[in-house]
Amino acid sequence: MIGCDCEVCSSADKKDKRFRSSILVQSPNTALVVDAGPDFRCQMLKHKVKHLDAVLLTHSHKDHVAGMDDLKAFTYFTGKPMEIYADAATESAVRRDFYYAFSDTRYPGTPEFDMHPISVNAFLVGDIPIVPVAVWHLRMPVLGFRFGPFTYITDANRIEDVEREKIKGSEVLVLNALRKEKHVSHFSLIEAVELSQELKIPTTYLTHISHQLGMHAEVEGELPPGIHLAYDGLILEFS
Ligand SMILES: [Zn+2]
Ligand SMILES: [Zn+2]
Repeated sequence: MIGCDCEVCSSADKKDKRFRSSILVQSPNTALVVDAGPDFRCQMLKHKVKHLDAVLLTHSHKDHVAGMDDLKAFTYFTGKPMEIYADAATESAVRRDFYYAFSDTRYPGTPEFDMHPISVNAFLVGDIPIVPVAVWHLRMPVLGFRFGPFTYITDANRIEDVEREKIKGSEVLVLNALRKEKHVSHFSLIEAVELSQELKIPTTYLTHISHQLGMHAEVEGELPPGIHLAYDGLILEFS
């Protein structure tokens, strides 16, 4: 957090350095990211990502879309627009925020986006099948995504029963938990733990963690079996 000298913000533990939430999903043939927030450029450079087929957006808040201008690096090398998957509300925000990428007279070096409207229906990106999961971020609809055995949900504080059914059976769930105290639009730590247990998910990683949650090592030690804090650079493999 800018200007903060709390024990988390001044910690030497790498796992206490938290970039904005995003994941890279890779299959043998396809690579996509979920969200491209303000740290997107640094995340791509740090992990030396050279190829990206698509971006899936959860919602239009700036901490999830602000880095989309840097997609121009990928479109520069391929000469093709980046494939963007978003619901209607997120798409209209992207068209507003990055108006210059949709102009008829684009100047050289701007990113180019090919928009694909999605809703709650399953779709395919390359060889990766995706099931959207609709969740609530206070009053804002947000999309989570299930990729076979793995489900990723960020920026939720409520999930309706019919959408919970889509998460059940996941081997691994990544779920947002902002802090210990209750929050108006994010699950708290205890709410996220309870949801994971209700859904009987064997392994859950918590993400979108604020500095207010506390030190990684301390909180990790307090969590029930099967529940962990995610951290920047965490890699999960599925066969
Ligand atoms: Zn948000
Ligand atoms: Zn967020």
